[in-house]
Amino acid sequence: MGWSIRLFDVAGTAVRIHLTFFLLLAWIAAIHYTRGGTAAAVDGVVFIVLLFLCVVLHEFGHVFAARRYGIKTSDVTLLPIGGVASLERMPEKPSQEIVVALAGPAVNVVIAVLLVGLLGARFDLSQMTQLQEATTTMAGRVAAANVALVIFNLIPAFPMDGGRVLRALLAIPMGYTRATRVAAIIGQSLAFVFAFFGLMGNPLLILIAVFIFLAAAGEAGYVQMREYTRGYLASHAMITAFKTLGPGATVDDAAALLLRTTQQEFPVVDNAGVLDGVLTREALIKALQDTGGATPVASVMDREVPTVPESAHLDNIFQMLQRTGQRVVGVVDASRRLTGYITAENLSELVMIQSSRESRDNASVAGRRAV
Ligand SMILES: [Zn+2]
Repeated sequence: MGWSIRLFDVAGTAVRIHLTFFLLLAWIAAIHYTRGGTAAAVDGVVFIVLLFLCVVLHEFGHVFAARRYGIKTSDVTLLPIGGVASLERMPEKPSQEIVVALAGPAVNVVIAVLLVGLLGARFDLSQMTQLQEATTTMAGRVAAANVALVIFNLIPAFPMDGGRVLRALLAIPMGYTRATRVAAIIGQSLAFVFAFFGLMGNPLLILIAVFIFLAAAGEAGYVQMREYTRGYLASHAMITAFKTLGPGATVDDAAALLLRTTQQEFPVVDNAGVLDGVLTREALIKALQDTGGATPVASVMDREVPTVPESAHLDNIFQMLQRTGQRVVGVVDASRRLTGYITAENLSELVMIQSSRESRDNASVAGRRAV
């Protein structure tokens, strides 16, 4: 995620903090300062830092539960609206998704129990509505905040934890794709409710509502994309009519090709036809500005382009593009010669074709019923 700094690593997962988080701290400090001076400002900031420490521990609940199923997490990022753990994928087995989803809130239950049990923090439910007020001890407020985190995260607003549990439960009778669609609609409806309450005086709730709304749409799109690409091979969707650049080509050669074709990325292949790298339009333009047209493409191309055989499954390729943020995957034959390539746009074209076929099929079924 951009605009974030890496704090430290825990067991292979980086903990990052988004720069806007510091805005939240400044905002909290300012509000408390106007109410009770420096002491109140320090108290407010300490509370928020402790609260977000609990949020990090919550995220690591998800991270370690996912690891049990062989799923890695590259980073956990702290945003003003909470934490986000970037799991490389979600488990598709409903039981596993439920375990991963509940592991986060379970951490907050443990923290609250420890604070109340060991530290003797005094805590009652009336504190939940006045977490910002310093009416009780810091430990009591943090305990109350953890209970609030559990309740909030269990609201079935997909893709929040409660929504993931809901999706997994729905997936048992209706399958993963439909369950995701239904859970996303419920999540987006709840986002409107959050936004409504947010408008009555809680700007953070509005941000959370926007986040849930977009994340639900994104996740539903991702699952649908994966469903549409399932059953296809790389050879079904790859671009086969394209121009390549030779190993000795210059940026000027690439610029000429950019004008003559509609391609936005140019595979660079050696004399045997093996892929050396890919020159993107952005890298081409940047090289023209920085070092000029005589620059060899070999020095500005992307060499880290993944390659797959023609028999590779398209849903795996889609997930690879999502995970790595790469835009191009090369498709190669048995002697590693480039036979085609797949881009993210190319995959969305496949989805456009598939979904219009599907809606036409549905329309003709409906038409027959009407007759
Ligand atoms: Zn969570």
